[in-house]
Amino acid sequence: MSKLMETRASSINRALDQIGDKWSLLIIGDVMWGIKTFGELLAATGMSRGVLSDRLKWLESIDCLQKRYTDENRRRPTYHLTRKTIDLYDTAMMSLNWERRFYSEPEMDAIQLVHKDCGNIFTPKMACRHCGRDVLAADVEFHDGPGATRDLRKMKVRRRSSKSIRDIPSGRAQYKNLIHLIGDRWTANVIALAFHGLKRFEEFHRELPIATNVLSDRLKFLTQEGVFLAVPYCERPLRFNYALSEKGLALFPFFLALLQWGDTWCGDGSGPPMMLIHTTCGEPLHGEVRCDACDGRILAYRVHQELLPIPAETS
Ligand SMILES: [Zn+2]
Ligand SMILES: [Zn+2]
Repeated sequence: MSKLMETRASSINRALDQIGDKWSLLIIGDVMWGIKTFGELLAATGMSRGVLSDRLKWLESIDCLQKRYTDENRRRPTYHLTRKTIDLYDTAMMSLNWERRFYSEPEMDAIQLVHKDCGNIFTPKMACRHCGRDVLAADVEFHDGPGATRDLRKMKVRRRSSKSIRDIPSGRAQYKNLIHLIGDRWTANVIALAFHGLKRFEEFHRELPIATNVLSDRLKFLTQEGVFLAVPYCERPLRFNYALSEKGLALFPFFLALLQWGDTWCGDGSGPPMMLIHTTCGEPLHGEVRCDACDGRILAYRVHQELLPIPAETS
């Protein structure tokens, strides 16, 4: 039996407990790109057959993928998005923004998004539904919602694989830097807690009672990746405040999209555990992804995704 841990109820944690695993995220991303069969997924992701089939079963069991057989091909099923995974489109858009801002990858730079409603090439942005202004981490307050209870969470959810996401062969893996960060749910949990203003090791540990060596490892990792700035506040013994850097703060729209997805799809029926207020306008915050050209709402089926030719490497 897997050990249990109690934490404050959080839609981000619930979402991460379902899909916050690097291979699950990679599979969802690839199916969004039209990769459909087991063989194609195997080639695109470079996973072992065992891990791939484990994750596919898991994603089917939580209604994130649907397996279909056709008459002509009764042996080789294809995998399809469900309403639940199509609803992850906002997180995919925000992830792409962040990747493009902080990393340069030819495959990613070659993606061009066209908004069918206005015909323009666009960059998606996260706006407040009420006032329409861009949502920044500094302009959001968190309050307990009707579902502010406690959750019992499994310490171990799925079979682990030590392979790094950065070694995957897929040229389509446009989210790999973000997946590298959040494809381990403790790392993602730590970032989410930092958005609530937590800064010190003991504060993180009180909210996320994982083994102390695991927690220090994640804090170190996030500092190395430039998401946290470690600022000493005590010389002897040496202790740090972990503050979100510009790169870390820029993850907020992604986490907001993930929180809203968790509210919709991973709730326990008692309502959102957390209510967010947009301090800019003073209203409850509902983030929505909009087109920077026409300000219209971005919906998955109203976006045409083009791949420009990737320039050949010159050496
Ligand atoms: Zn607002
Ligand atoms: Zn538009």
